[in-house]
Amino acid sequence: MPEASKPKAQSICAVRTTPNEPRPSREEAERAIRTLLLWAGDNPDREGLRDTPARVVSAYEDWFSGYNQDPEEYLARTFEEVQGYDDMVVLKDIRFESHCEHHMAPIIGRVHVGYLPNNKIVGISKLARVVEVFARRLQVQETMNAQIAHCIQNVLEPKGVAVVIEATHQCMTTRGVHKPGVSMVTSTMLGDFRTNPLTRREFLSVIGNPSSTIEG
Ligand SMILES: [Zn+2]
Repeated sequence: MPEASKPKAQSICAVRTTPNEPRPSREEAERAIRTLLLWAGDNPDREGLRDTPARVVSAYEDWFSGYNQDPEEYLARTFEEVQGYDDMVVLKDIRFESHCEHHMAPIIGRVHVGYLPNNKIVGISKLARVVEVFARRLQVQETMNAQIAHCIQNVLEPKGVAVVIEATHQCMTTRGVHKPGVSMVTSTMLGDFRTNPLTRREFLSVIGNPSSTIEG
């Protein structure tokens, strides 16, 4: 694939909305955390909390580092010589940690990715990196699921892509309805995975069939 041929502005994997105001300084971000500590009812000047705003901002830099990365870059290096291999490639149980855009609470789970190569294959670690880039942004699980699938479809142009995500949402398990142990399963099936029930079933059996409801 001509690696530099896709203009970044059209990248399906890029962040699509840009804020109307400038990015605050690190100092302003730390002040915002201090405000939240006060609001929660604690004293941000006590010893244990004195460095907390700085630590939280550093953690945010890590948890939300996906905004600065373009997952297409990880997929750009493909190996086109597949020696006739045109069977399913599956990477299962990719652990991820993300944060929901409604509560900024952790979403923790596993992603399973499958695709049917069309002359192009990619190193499996690259697929895991793509998952990680999307996970390090705020979102809902459904969006993340669709973005991973469409990004792979867009760059590798395979005969099909399947992405299944199983995750627990701490905004649901630790507050609100308090339902520990509940996990959410979402899936995006594109190309052959969508049109061919046998292909879909093969993928689901490889990943251990997290939900029979995906069968369609
Ligand atoms: Zn939430």
